[in-house]
Amino acid sequence: MDPEKVWQCQTTNCGYFYNPDKGDRKGKIPKGTNFEDIPNHWKCPVCGASKKAFRSLAGPGAVDWQVLLIYSRTCLIILLDILTNPLTQDGKACAFFILKVL
Ligand SMILES: [Zn+2]
Repeated sequence: MDPEKVWQCQTTNCGYFYNPDKGDRKGKIPKGTNFEDIPNHWKCPVCGASKKAFRSLAGPGAVDWQVLLIYSRTCLIILLDILTNPLTQDGKACAFFILKVL
């Protein structure tokens, strides 16, 4: 399975995957059809969302999510470090840690 060719419906509570290896029998999309080649009037077979609601698993949107995840994890580590090492107690070590992480 090539993640660049699999697209996911981004509608809340849906998450349907379009896999070109399978196509979409309900929407009369034959096997081997790339998402880009699906007619624009096609709708998600689960929730009925339009093609615009879909994102490629390996597309720019997916990369943004990964960056966001790493960024929020870094923020959490800094926050935990500040909480466990009050500035009054170990200010220098805390500042050094933040510089090191960023
Ligand atoms: Zn959907």
